[in-house]
Amino acid sequence: MVSSNPIFKHQALQLLEKCNTVHSFKQVHAQAITNALVIHTYPLSRLLLLSSTLAFSYALSIFNQIPNPTVFLYNTFISSSTHNASLALFVYNKILTHQDHTLKPNVFTYPSLFKACGFPPWLNHGRALHAHVLKFLQPPYDHFVQASLINFYANSGKLGVARYLFSQISKPDLPTWNSILGAYARCPTSTASSLGAIYSGDSDSNRCIEVLWLFKEMQKSPVKPNELTLVAVISACANLGAFSQGAWAHAYVTKCNLKLNRFVGTGLIDMYSKCGFIDFAYQLFEKMPQKDTLCYNAMIGGFGMHGYGYKALHLYEKMKSEGFVPDDITFVVVMRACSHVGLLEDGCRIFESIKEYYRIEPKQEHYGCLVDLLGRAGRLKEAEEEIRKMPMQPNAVLWRSLLGAARVHGNLEIGEMALKHLLRLEPETSGNYVLLSNIYASIHRWGDVKRIRKLMKDQGVDKMPGSSLVEVNGIMHEFFTGDRTHPYTKEIYGKLEEINTRLQEYGHKPRTKQVLFDIEEEEKEDALSYHSERLAIAFAFVVSNSNLPIRIIKNLRVCVDCHAITKLLSTIYRREIVVRDRNRFHHFKGGTCSCVDYW
Ligand code: ZN
Ligand code: ZN
Repeated sequence: MVSSNPIFKHQALQLLEKCNTVHSFKQVHAQAITNALVIHTYPLSRLLLLSSTLAFSYALSIFNQIPNPTVFLYNTFISSSTHNASLALFVYNKILTHQDHTLKPNVFTYPSLFKACGFPPWLNHGRALHAHVLKFLQPPYDHFVQASLINFYANSGKLGVARYLFSQISKPDLPTWNSILGAYARCPTSTASSLGAIYSGDSDSNRCIEVLWLFKEMQKSPVKPNELTLVAVISACANLGAFSQGAWAHAYVTKCNLKLNRFVGTGLIDMYSKCGFIDFAYQLFEKMPQKDTLCYNAMIGGFGMHGYGYKALHLYEKMKSEGFVPDDITFVVVMRACSHVGLLEDGCRIFESIKEYYRIEPKQEHYGCLVDLLGRAGRLKEAEEEIRKMPMQPNAVLWRSLLGAARVHGNLEIGEMALKHLLRLEPETSGNYVLLSNIYASIHRWGDVKRIRKLMKDQGVDKMPGSSLVEVNGIMHEFFTGDRTHPYTKEIYGKLEEINTRLQEYGHKPRTKQVLFDIEEEEKEDALSYHSERLAIAFAFVVSNSNLPIRIIKNLRVCVDCHAITKLLSTIYRREIVVRDRNRFHHFKGGTCSCVDYW
């Protein structure tokens, strides 16, 4: 047994834990050789694991000198090479081709292999390994193997396969539950933990609803959720804007004595700010026992999303003064916060500091923020120059932000140039075609308009359907453009007629003329086909008479018309309306919006 074998307590092994340089490691390794520890499996596995964290080539040389490695040693080595799929597979292949045919991969071999193959160039290898699991292991399969398979398929975007594998398990344990919940929560993720995914609009509500549904199922089983489970649930609530469920999850954490660790805490901060309760987010942030960069990123991002540029900047300074080092995401969230309120100089200063002070090479996302900052301030030429000066190939996001700026400032020349780049990079995105055709229409190039429309049709490009979620009495209701499926359809459309009359009394004229550079991601709105947020607002007016703000989450950018109307509605009906669109929050109150019509 572990405790009774003197080898396990050998002084050299205890010293091993203290090694933090290759030099000290080599000294202990020498001791292990002279004391003949290296003929035993356990000390060898310790040596392998530790050396792989210090110098991988050294670990490889130790492994190559083992005359007849056991499967345990192979597994140890594979588990320490999960960052290098080609090496992990190379070692795995050695097990398969070993002369001693009694050597076979076992349940501990596969989880690390699936982890190593969880990235694009290796996905096919992962699928081949699944076949090996079926060949070499006997059912019922080990839970860790199952969980790693579910993770693998989820990471490679095959959520359906992951779900099928999950359904094959009769009594899932905690790691397996967490795998499937995490898989669904991760797919539409937009927490501040992944660069580029921040504020991304593809929060697929169905997947988030699935997380909540699965969690309900889990509660019927004897398995108790842990912190990791709640992180998945909270992130689903954040994306759905499901405040009641999210607050319930927070209460659950407290009631079940789960730890308010950095992941749970950050998730809750993100959830409260995405649900529109920035004050709750800040209260929790203040109470967090141990703050770190992750936590600060979520809070700075929250302030930015709500248009509190100065608060975001202040927190960024505080974070630095408390000794936390900003990471890639910090720079993105703080620069976006500046951008949302037009703090040009502060934003540019932060961009400069990435390179000058932190000695980090700025990434696409950081250039994107800079272009956005300059573009919004009307410095289009400078923005264009920055794109051209970039050391890497500019991506579609950059050209789109330049285009957006060209639209706001009516610069046809730069707009057309940005569009051409956009269409080359993203031939399948409908918004780009619509934009180009609108520009041509504005300068009466009707032949080009026709050509673009035809191109769009030929390529089968469709517009993205707009959808809005609204929470009433703890229940989420979803509406699509022109939706007539809701049980309250009759009342909703009745209310819309009343709303239209009131809007006319207030002098509102629906915009029918195509305006120059109008970015509309959705089909034009008319009396038969209202945009989803309007249906959601009408529904909220029908069913709730309280004075509480109406909170709406929309998957696309709010259009100019809906924005104007919502401002009016907030004053006509004396009701605060909070809309989270793809980019930011709009707090409509007393006829104005917190974005100051700049979004
Ligand atoms: Zn609209
Ligand atoms: Zn607004």
